[in-house]
Amino acid sequence: MRAQPKASHFIDGAYVEDTGGAVMDVVYAATGEVIARVHEATPALIDRALASAARAQRDWARLMPVERGRILQRAAAIIRARNRELSELETLDTGKPLQETLVADATSGADALEYFGGMAATVTGETIPLGRDLVYTIREPLGVCVGIGAWNYPTQIACWKAAPALAFGNAMVFKPSEVTPLCALKVAEILHEAGLPAGLFNVVQGRGAVGGALVSDARVAKVSLTGSVPTGRKVYAAAADGVRHVTMELGGKSPLIIFEDADLEDAIGGAMLGNFYSAGQVCSNGTRVFVQRGIKERFLKRLKARTEAITLGEPMDEATQMGPLVSAAQMEKVLSLIDTGKAEGARLVTGGLRLNGPGFYIQPTVFADVTDTMTIAREEIFGPVMAVLEFDSEDEVIARANDTEFGLSAGVFTRDLTRAHRVIGQLQAGTCWINAYNLSPVEAPFGGSKMSGVGRENSRAAVEHYTQIKSVYL
Ligand code: NAD
Repeated sequence: MRAQPKASHFIDGAYVEDTGGAVMDVVYAATGEVIARVHEATPALIDRALASAARAQRDWARLMPVERGRILQRAAAIIRARNRELSELETLDTGKPLQETLVADATSGADALEYFGGMAATVTGETIPLGRDLVYTIREPLGVCVGIGAWNYPTQIACWKAAPALAFGNAMVFKPSEVTPLCALKVAEILHEAGLPAGLFNVVQGRGAVGGALVSDARVAKVSLTGSVPTGRKVYAAAADGVRHVTMELGGKSPLIIFEDADLEDAIGGAMLGNFYSAGQVCSNGTRVFVQRGIKERFLKRLKARTEAITLGEPMDEATQMGPLVSAAQMEKVLSLIDTGKAEGARLVTGGLRLNGPGFYIQPTVFADVTDTMTIAREEIFGPVMAVLEFDSEDEVIARANDTEFGLSAGVFTRDLTRAHRVIGQLQAGTCWINAYNLSPVEAPFGGSKMSGVGRENSRAAVEHYTQIKSVYL
């Protein structure tokens, strides 16, 4: 098997196997071939991972922050040096094209390790004068953090959670998605190669039940989940039972609003990026594309032509622009929502079909004449399916854009920047773009409002989510 890891788990600084856990096949989405086989963590292994994290965290928290940061920055350098190998693994794990993974996955993970490595030594408290007395504050780590990942960005998600957690003195037990278990093991390996002491970053494999066991363990101080809203509700509730800190990065159905005065080609590029990158499996995608009536037909004509020019193919071929969906199950879910779109009266502009062959490919798909109540305008599809809706006025489109339970992202394309700021100011979303889409540098806070999440990843905001304040009256 061409991507078999040394063992299923990484615990206390080493690869660990326990064949007592149920088998999970890792399938290459482009061919359907089984490329690795791992085992779910048994209760004994989960306990070992948490125990080693709790033990290691005590010394780690006492280290000079600059020393912690140095290790993370060393890991970032190793990741960059091994980018091609890691990108190929990411492609095997997810089916995303190498053209994307070479620039968006390991590199983004390295960015986070570098950024938080540099920030580690800058996190300080404050002094609060009280006449003759004084209060000072200390930013302390939370303790043992649990990270749980989705399958769309396995390397990036592991690093986005590990980097701030470790930089600020915490330990982490990370459970990757059962669909993409391979990349987080490499992150663990590299962190330890860079000098991370054993036990601080552990990877345990498993499905939801393993995640559930981690989230409800008394040793855990914080849970950070990237996943769907239904899973988020369960994990949030389980974390609440132990009054644990949470970060919830959940799903979305984000609006992308294109005004008549927008640069049309740029706006089409933004809409394509925000719907077809990673075969549409991006949480922040702008899947409700609101186009102002006057440009709608021109927009659709050019969008159709450009969408039909996308090269689908073998993800390892660097000329391939779009790969398969991550799994057969995800492909079936997306095909069924495409059928629902047709049945509810949306107009299929292009795509809509599964490609012949063994992989889980679906053509990039555009629906027009979509109305706000249609299923494809309300449910997260998580596939290459764009819904184009039309609008007349600014007030109308703001109200319609906000009429959703989600609030992850939003985008506006217009040449009128006054309008752009005014509209963005009224949109209920945590992560927004003006004349761009889906750019998520580590320097910028990332996360959602409403049902799309709690807390923020990346940026200085992450300090709030991986530390707690001790207040000392002197
Ligand atoms: P999912 O919710 O099915 O699973 C996410 C993770 O949670 C998996 O590791 C899974 O094993 C685990 N899990 C499931 N049940 C659990 C339980 N009861 N307790 C603990 N853990 C449990 O999501 P997915 O299908 O892997 O990923 C797609 C979803 O993730 C989409 O909704 C997408 O929008 C969202 N997502 C959000 C972001 C973000 O940053 N906001 C990023 C990527 C993906």
